[in-house]
Amino acid sequence: MSKNTYSAFRIHKDDQGHHAGIEQLPKPVPGDGEVLVRVTHSAVNYKDALAGTGKGKILRTFPLVGGIDAAGQVEASSHPDYKAGDAVIATGWGLSFDHDGAYAQYLCVPGDWLVAMPEGLDARSAMILGTAGFTAALAVHRMLVNGQRPELGPILVNGASGGVGSMAVAIFARLGYEVVAVSGKAALHDWLTALGATRIVGRDALSEAKRPLEKAEWGGAVDSVGGEMLAQITRTLAPNGNIAAIGLAGGHELNTTVMPFILRGVSLLGCNSVDVPAPVRRELWGHLASDWRPGQLEDMLTERVDLAGLPDVFERMLAGQTHGRVLVEID
Ligand code: NDP
Repeated sequence: MSKNTYSAFRIHKDDQGHHAGIEQLPKPVPGDGEVLVRVTHSAVNYKDALAGTGKGKILRTFPLVGGIDAAGQVEASSHPDYKAGDAVIATGWGLSFDHDGAYAQYLCVPGDWLVAMPEGLDARSAMILGTAGFTAALAVHRMLVNGQRPELGPILVNGASGGVGSMAVAIFARLGYEVVAVSGKAALHDWLTALGATRIVGRDALSEAKRPLEKAEWGGAVDSVGGEMLAQITRTLAPNGNIAAIGLAGGHELNTTVMPFILRGVSLLGCNSVDVPAPVRRELWGHLASDWRPGQLEDMLTERVDLAGLPDVFERMLAGQTHGRVLVEID
Protein backbone atom coordinates (compact mmCIF):
# COMPACT_ATOMS: atom_id res chain seq x y z
CA MET A 1 0.00 0.00 0.00
CA SER A 2 1.46 3.35 -0.98
CA LYS A 3 0.15 6.48 0.70
CA ASN A 4 -2.51 6.99 -1.93
CA THR A 5 -3.42 3.46 -2.95
CA TYR A 6 -4.61 0.32 -1.21
CA SER A 7 -5.01 -3.39 -1.94
CA ALA A 8 -8.44 -4.79 -2.72
CA PHE A 9 -9.89 -8.08 -3.95
CA ARG A 10 -11.90 -6.88 -6.95
CA ILE A 11 -14.44 -8.80 -9.03
CA HIS A 12 -14.88 -8.15 -12.76
CA LYS A 13 -17.27 -9.35 -15.45
CA ASP A 14 -16.21 -8.14 -18.87
CA ASP A 15 -15.00 -9.33 -22.29
CA GLN A 16 -12.73 -11.82 -20.52
CA GLY A 17 -15.67 -13.24 -18.55
CA HIS A 18 -15.75 -13.42 -14.76
CA HIS A 19 -12.40 -12.82 -13.06
CA ALA A 20 -11.23 -11.55 -9.70
CA GLY A 21 -7.98 -10.78 -7.91
CA ILE A 22 -5.96 -8.31 -5.88
CA GLU A 23 -5.55 -4.82 -7.34
CA GLN A 24 -4.28 -1.46 -6.18
CA LEU A 25 -7.02 1.18 -6.01
CA PRO A 26 -6.84 4.92 -5.33
CA LYS A 27 -7.65 5.76 -1.71
CA PRO A 28 -11.04 7.52 -1.55
CA VAL A 29 -11.86 10.72 0.32
CA PRO A 30 -15.15 10.45 2.26
CA GLY A 31 -17.92 12.63 0.81
CA ASP A 32 -20.70 14.22 2.83
CA GLY A 33 -22.07 11.72 5.36
CA GLU A 34 -19.43 9.12 4.45
CA VAL A 35 -16.79 7.42 6.57
CA LEU A 36 -13.42 5.99 5.50
CA VAL A 37 -12.67 2.79 7.44
CA ARG A 38 -9.28 1.07 7.67
CA VAL A 39 -10.49 -2.52 7.44
CA THR A 40 -8.49 -5.00 9.51
CA HIS A 41 -10.81 -8.02 9.51
CA SER A 42 -13.48 -9.52 7.29
CA ALA A 43 -14.97 -12.99 6.84
CA VAL A 44 -16.13 -15.44 4.19
CA ASN A 45 -19.85 -16.17 3.85
CA TYR A 46 -21.59 -18.41 1.30
CA LYS A 47 -22.72 -15.27 -0.52
CA ASP A 48 -19.11 -14.05 -0.76
CA ALA A 49 -18.14 -17.38 -2.33
CA LEU A 50 -20.95 -17.08 -4.89
CA ALA A 51 -19.94 -13.50 -5.71
CA GLY A 52 -16.20 -14.15 -5.83
CA THR A 53 -16.45 -17.14 -8.15
CA GLY A 54 -19.28 -15.77 -10.28
CA LYS A 55 -21.31 -18.90 -9.52
CA GLY A 56 -24.21 -16.82 -8.17
CA LYS A 57 -25.66 -13.53 -9.39
CA ILE A 58 -24.80 -11.38 -6.39
CA LEU A 59 -23.20 -8.22 -7.79
CA ARG A 60 -25.47 -5.70 -9.49
CA THR A 61 -22.64 -3.78 -11.09
CA PHE A 62 -19.02 -4.51 -12.12
CA PRO A 63 -16.25 -4.18 -11.20
CA LEU A 64 -16.74 -4.19 -7.42
CA VAL A 65 -14.62 -5.08 -4.41
CA GLY A 66 -16.04 -8.27 -2.81
CA GLY A 67 -16.88 -8.93 0.84
CA ILE A 68 -20.09 -8.32 2.80
CA ASP A 69 -18.51 -8.13 6.30
CA ALA A 70 -16.04 -5.51 7.54
CA ALA A 71 -14.58 -4.40 10.85
CA GLY A 72 -11.88 -1.87 11.50
CA GLN A 73 -11.15 1.67 12.58
CA VAL A 74 -12.40 4.97 11.25
CA GLU A 75 -9.60 6.87 9.53
CA ALA A 76 -11.61 9.89 8.35
CA SER A 77 -15.25 10.84 8.77
CA SER A 78 -17.77 13.30 7.35
CA HIS A 79 -20.56 11.78 9.47
CA PRO A 80 -21.53 13.36 12.81
CA ASP A 81 -21.70 10.00 14.65
CA TYR A 82 -18.13 8.88 13.86
CA LYS A 83 -14.63 10.25 14.33
CA ALA A 84 -11.11 9.01 13.53
CA GLY A 85 -10.12 6.09 15.74
CA ASP A 86 -13.64 4.74 16.36
CA ALA A 87 -13.97 0.96 16.06
CA VAL A 88 -16.82 0.02 13.71
CA ILE A 89 -18.62 -2.87 12.01
CA ALA A 90 -20.29 -2.89 8.58
CA THR A 91 -22.32 -5.84 7.27
CA GLY A 92 -24.82 -6.15 4.46
CA TRP A 93 -26.42 -3.01 2.97
CA GLY A 94 -24.85 -2.47 -0.48
CA LEU A 95 -21.49 -4.11 0.30
CA SER A 96 -20.45 -6.34 -2.60
CA PHE A 97 -23.88 -5.78 -4.14
CA ASP A 98 -23.93 -2.31 -5.69
CA HIS A 99 -21.07 -0.77 -3.67
CA ASP A 100 -17.44 -1.76 -3.08
CA GLY A 101 -17.18 -4.32 -0.29
CA ALA A 102 -14.94 -5.32 2.59
CA TYR A 103 -12.09 -7.31 1.00
CA ALA A 104 -9.79 -4.29 1.01
CA GLN A 105 -7.57 -2.25 3.25
CA TYR A 106 -10.04 0.64 2.98
CA LEU A 107 -13.79 0.91 2.77
CA CYS A 108 -15.63 4.19 2.18
CA VAL A 109 -19.34 3.92 3.09
CA PRO A 110 -22.27 6.05 4.20
CA GLY A 111 -21.88 6.43 7.97
CA ASP A 112 -25.47 5.20 8.37
CA TRP A 113 -24.28 1.73 7.33
CA LEU A 114 -21.94 1.46 10.32
CA VAL A 115 -22.50 0.10 13.80
CA ALA A 116 -20.20 1.29 16.59
CA MET A 117 -18.26 -1.66 17.99
CA PRO A 118 -20.17 -2.76 21.08
CA GLU A 119 -18.33 -3.22 24.35
CA GLY A 120 -17.18 -6.82 24.61
CA LEU A 121 -16.23 -7.24 20.94
CA ASP A 122 -13.25 -6.20 18.86
CA ALA A 123 -12.70 -6.32 15.09
CA ARG A 124 -11.53 -9.94 15.19
CA SER A 125 -14.34 -11.37 17.33
CA ALA A 126 -16.93 -9.27 15.48
CA MET A 127 -15.82 -10.83 12.21
CA ILE A 128 -15.79 -14.37 13.60
CA LEU A 129 -19.47 -13.60 14.19
CA GLY A 130 -19.96 -11.55 10.99
CA THR A 131 -23.06 -11.86 8.85
CA ALA A 132 -23.44 -15.48 9.99
CA GLY A 133 -23.72 -14.49 13.66
CA PHE A 134 -25.81 -11.44 12.86
CA THR A 135 -28.25 -13.48 10.74
CA ALA A 136 -28.54 -16.16 13.42
CA ALA A 137 -29.23 -13.37 15.94
CA LEU A 138 -31.88 -11.95 13.60
CA ALA A 139 -33.52 -15.38 13.45
CA VAL A 140 -33.44 -15.69 17.25
CA HIS A 141 -34.87 -12.16 17.59
CA ARG A 142 -37.72 -12.79 15.14
CA MET A 143 -38.58 -16.11 16.78
CA LEU A 144 -38.52 -14.73 20.34
CA VAL A 145 -40.70 -11.76 19.33
CA ASN A 146 -43.11 -14.27 17.82
CA GLY A 147 -43.44 -16.29 21.02
CA GLN A 148 -40.70 -18.95 20.80
CA ARG A 149 -40.19 -20.52 24.25
CA PRO A 150 -38.13 -23.55 25.36
CA GLU A 151 -41.38 -25.28 26.48
CA LEU A 152 -42.56 -25.50 22.84
CA GLY A 153 -39.86 -28.09 22.18
CA PRO A 154 -36.36 -28.40 20.69
CA ILE A 155 -35.04 -26.05 18.03
CA LEU A 156 -34.03 -27.81 14.82
CA VAL A 157 -31.05 -26.16 13.08
CA ASN A 158 -30.03 -27.41 9.64
CA GLY A 159 -26.85 -26.63 7.76
CA ALA A 160 -25.55 -26.87 11.31
CA SER A 161 -21.86 -27.07 10.49
CA GLY A 162 -22.10 -23.92 8.34
CA GLY A 163 -21.59 -20.34 9.43
CA VAL A 164 -25.22 -19.42 10.12
CA GLY A 165 -26.14 -22.88 11.39
CA SER A 166 -23.29 -23.18 13.88
CA MET A 167 -24.06 -19.69 15.24
CA ALA A 168 -27.75 -20.56 15.63
CA VAL A 169 -26.85 -23.78 17.48
CA ALA A 170 -24.59 -21.88 19.89
CA ILE A 171 -26.96 -18.97 20.54
CA PHE A 172 -30.06 -21.09 21.16
CA ALA A 173 -28.03 -23.43 23.41
CA ARG A 174 -26.79 -20.43 25.38
CA LEU A 175 -30.41 -19.27 25.79
CA GLY A 176 -31.31 -22.60 27.38
CA TYR A 177 -33.04 -24.32 24.46
CA GLU A 178 -32.60 -27.95 23.51
CA VAL A 179 -30.99 -27.86 20.05
CA VAL A 180 -31.15 -30.64 17.45
CA ALA A 181 -28.58 -30.13 14.70
CA VAL A 182 -29.02 -31.44 11.14
CA SER A 183 -25.64 -32.02 9.53
CA GLY A 184 -24.28 -33.97 6.60
CA LYS A 185 -20.83 -34.07 8.18
CA ALA A 186 -20.57 -37.03 10.55
CA ALA A 187 -16.97 -36.12 11.40
CA LEU A 188 -18.15 -32.90 13.03
CA HIS A 189 -20.55 -34.37 15.58
CA ASP A 190 -18.20 -33.75 18.51
CA TRP A 191 -17.65 -30.16 17.34
CA LEU A 192 -21.41 -29.56 17.13
CA THR A 193 -21.95 -31.13 20.55
CA ALA A 194 -19.31 -28.80 22.01
CA LEU A 195 -21.18 -25.83 20.49
CA GLY A 196 -24.32 -26.88 22.33
CA ALA A 197 -26.24 -29.35 20.14
CA THR A 198 -27.98 -31.93 22.31
CA ARG A 199 -28.62 -34.29 19.39
CA ILE A 200 -27.33 -34.53 15.82
CA VAL A 201 -29.24 -36.08 12.96
CA GLY A 202 -28.35 -36.65 9.30
CA ARG A 203 -29.73 -34.64 6.37
CA ASP A 204 -32.17 -37.45 5.57
CA ALA A 205 -33.66 -37.51 9.09
CA LEU A 206 -36.96 -35.99 7.94
CA SER A 207 -37.17 -37.63 4.53
CA GLU A 208 -40.20 -39.72 5.53
CA ALA A 209 -42.16 -36.55 6.44
CA LYS A 210 -44.26 -36.46 3.27
CA ARG A 211 -47.85 -35.90 4.43
CA PRO A 212 -49.06 -32.32 4.96
CA LEU A 213 -48.98 -32.88 8.75
CA GLU A 214 -46.66 -35.37 10.39
CA LYS A 215 -45.78 -35.98 14.06
CA ALA A 216 -44.90 -32.61 15.59
CA GLU A 217 -41.28 -32.89 16.73
CA TRP A 218 -39.73 -29.41 16.84
CA GLY A 219 -40.68 -26.34 18.82
CA GLY A 220 -38.97 -24.18 16.22
CA ALA A 221 -36.43 -24.30 13.42
CA VAL A 222 -33.66 -22.26 11.83
CA ASP A 223 -33.43 -23.16 8.16
CA SER A 224 -30.48 -22.19 6.00
CA VAL A 225 -31.04 -25.06 3.55
CA GLY A 226 -34.48 -24.40 1.97
CA GLY A 227 -35.97 -26.74 -0.67
CA GLU A 228 -37.30 -30.13 0.38
CA MET A 229 -35.81 -29.94 3.89
CA LEU A 230 -37.74 -26.75 4.60
CA ALA A 231 -40.93 -28.42 3.35
CA GLN A 232 -40.28 -31.35 5.70
CA ILE A 233 -39.79 -28.95 8.61
CA THR A 234 -43.14 -27.25 7.97
CA ARG A 235 -44.82 -30.68 8.30
CA THR A 236 -43.13 -31.60 11.59
CA LEU A 237 -43.28 -28.36 13.59
CA ALA A 238 -45.18 -28.17 16.87
CA PRO A 239 -48.28 -25.95 17.19
CA ASN A 240 -47.40 -22.23 17.35
CA GLY A 241 -43.75 -22.89 16.55
CA ASN A 242 -41.64 -20.66 14.32
CA ILE A 243 -39.41 -21.39 11.37
CA ALA A 244 -36.78 -18.78 10.51
CA ALA A 245 -36.21 -19.03 6.74
CA ILE A 246 -32.66 -17.89 6.04
CA GLY A 247 -31.00 -19.66 3.17
CA LEU A 248 -31.05 -21.91 0.14
CA ALA A 249 -27.93 -24.06 0.46
CA GLY A 250 -30.09 -27.04 -0.61
CA GLY A 251 -32.56 -25.32 -2.95
CA HIS A 252 -34.74 -22.24 -3.43
CA GLU A 253 -38.10 -23.93 -3.97
CA LEU A 254 -40.71 -24.59 -1.31
CA ASN A 255 -43.36 -27.22 -1.98
CA THR A 256 -45.63 -27.63 0.98
CA THR A 257 -49.29 -27.06 1.91
CA VAL A 258 -51.06 -24.44 4.01
CA MET A 259 -51.99 -27.11 6.61
CA PRO A 260 -49.16 -26.44 9.11
CA PHE A 261 -49.98 -22.73 9.01
CA ILE A 262 -53.77 -22.90 9.35
CA LEU A 263 -54.09 -26.00 11.57
CA ARG A 264 -50.99 -25.68 13.79
CA GLY A 265 -50.44 -21.93 13.72
CA VAL A 266 -46.89 -22.44 12.48
CA SER A 267 -45.14 -19.21 11.42
CA LEU A 268 -42.62 -18.94 8.62
CA LEU A 269 -40.44 -15.92 9.43
CA GLY A 270 -38.32 -14.51 6.63
CA CYS A 271 -34.89 -13.27 7.65
CA ASN A 272 -32.95 -10.80 5.52
CA SER A 273 -29.74 -9.60 7.14
CA VAL A 274 -28.95 -7.09 4.40
CA ASP A 275 -31.40 -4.23 5.02
CA VAL A 276 -32.05 -4.52 8.77
CA PRO A 277 -32.80 -1.02 10.12
CA ALA A 278 -30.04 0.60 12.19
CA PRO A 279 -31.77 0.44 15.62
CA VAL A 280 -32.37 -3.33 15.28
CA ARG A 281 -28.79 -3.78 14.07
CA ARG A 282 -27.43 -2.03 17.15
CA GLU A 283 -29.69 -4.11 19.40
CA LEU A 284 -28.61 -7.41 17.82
CA TRP A 285 -24.89 -6.57 17.89
CA GLY A 286 -25.35 -5.61 21.54
CA HIS A 287 -26.82 -9.06 22.24
CA LEU A 288 -24.03 -10.77 20.28
CA ALA A 289 -21.48 -8.95 22.42
CA SER A 290 -23.12 -9.97 25.69
CA ASP A 291 -26.04 -12.25 26.58
CA TRP A 292 -26.24 -14.07 23.20
CA ARG A 293 -22.49 -14.30 22.59
CA PRO A 294 -21.58 -17.90 21.76
CA GLY A 295 -19.44 -19.17 24.62
CA GLN A 296 -17.26 -21.09 22.17
CA LEU A 297 -16.58 -18.30 19.67
CA GLU A 298 -12.93 -19.25 19.20
CA ASP A 299 -13.92 -22.86 18.40
CA MET A 300 -16.18 -21.59 15.62
CA LEU A 301 -13.18 -20.03 13.91
CA THR A 302 -11.88 -22.81 11.68
CA GLU A 303 -9.69 -20.94 9.17
CA ARG A 304 -7.79 -17.68 8.78
CA VAL A 305 -6.86 -16.35 5.35
CA ASP A 306 -5.50 -13.18 3.78
CA LEU A 307 -6.87 -11.56 0.61
CA ALA A 308 -4.71 -13.85 -1.56
CA GLY A 309 -6.29 -16.93 0.05
CA LEU A 310 -9.86 -16.02 -0.88
CA PRO A 311 -10.28 -17.87 -4.23
CA ASP A 312 -9.29 -21.20 -2.70
CA VAL A 313 -11.69 -20.78 0.24
CA PHE A 314 -14.54 -19.78 -2.09
CA GLU A 315 -14.18 -22.99 -4.11
CA ARG A 316 -14.01 -25.17 -1.00
CA MET A 317 -16.99 -23.46 0.60
CA LEU A 318 -19.18 -23.99 -2.47
CA ALA A 319 -18.01 -27.62 -2.59
CA GLY A 320 -19.18 -28.07 1.03
CA GLN A 321 -15.64 -28.56 2.31
CA THR A 322 -15.59 -25.78 4.91
CA HIS A 323 -17.29 -25.49 8.25
CA GLY A 324 -17.69 -22.88 10.95
CA ARG A 325 -16.29 -19.44 10.25
CA VAL A 326 -13.49 -18.30 7.99
CA LEU A 327 -11.79 -15.08 9.15
CA VAL A 328 -10.07 -12.76 6.68
CA GLU A 329 -7.11 -10.88 8.12
CA ILE A 330 -6.16 -7.73 6.23
CA ASP A 331 -2.72 -6.19 6.82
P1 NDP B 1 -22.09 -22.26 4.78
O1 NDP B 1 -21.55 -22.79 3.50
O2 NDP B 1 -21.15 -21.88 5.86
O3 NDP B 1 -23.12 -23.35 5.40
C1 NDP B 1 -24.09 -23.99 4.66
C2 NDP B 1 -24.34 -25.37 5.28
O4 NDP B 1 -25.50 -25.94 4.67
C3 NDP B 1 -23.22 -26.37 5.00
O5 NDP B 1 -22.18 -26.28 5.93
C4 NDP B 1 -23.95 -27.69 5.08
O6 NDP B 1 -24.06 -28.06 6.45
C5 NDP B 1 -25.36 -27.36 4.59
N1 NDP B 1 -25.58 -27.74 3.20
C6 NDP B 1 -24.83 -27.41 2.12
N2 NDP B 1 -25.34 -27.93 1.00
C7 NDP B 1 -26.45 -28.61 1.38
C8 NDP B 1 -27.43 -29.39 0.69
N3 NDP B 1 -27.36 -29.56 -0.64
N4 NDP B 1 -28.43 -29.94 1.40
C9 NDP B 1 -28.50 -29.77 2.73
N5 NDP B 1 -27.60 -29.07 3.45
C10 NDP B 1 -26.60 -28.49 2.77
O7 NDP B 1 -23.05 -21.05 4.40
P2 NDP B 1 -23.63 -19.84 5.31
O8 NDP B 1 -23.88 -20.35 6.68
O9 NDP B 1 -22.81 -18.63 5.08
O10 NDP B 1 -25.03 -19.60 4.58
C11 NDP B 1 -26.05 -20.60 4.62
C12 NDP B 1 -27.22 -20.17 3.74
O11 NDP B 1 -27.84 -19.02 4.31
C13 NDP B 1 -26.83 -19.78 2.31
O12 NDP B 1 -27.86 -20.16 1.43
C14 NDP B 1 -26.72 -18.28 2.39
O13 NDP B 1 -26.89 -17.67 1.13
C15 NDP B 1 -27.86 -17.96 3.35
N6 NDP B 1 -27.69 -16.71 4.08
C16 NDP B 1 -28.77 -15.87 4.11
C17 NDP B 1 -28.71 -14.71 4.82
C18 NDP B 1 -29.92 -13.84 4.91
O14 NDP B 1 -29.79 -12.65 5.24
N7 NDP B 1 -31.11 -14.37 4.65
C19 NDP B 1 -27.47 -14.29 5.52
C20 NDP B 1 -26.42 -15.30 5.50
C21 NDP B 1 -26.54 -16.45 4.78
P3 NDP B 1 -23.96 -29.61 6.92
O15 NDP B 1 -22.84 -30.23 6.13
O16 NDP B 1 -23.66 -29.50 8.38
O17 NDP B 1 -25.26 -30.27 6.63
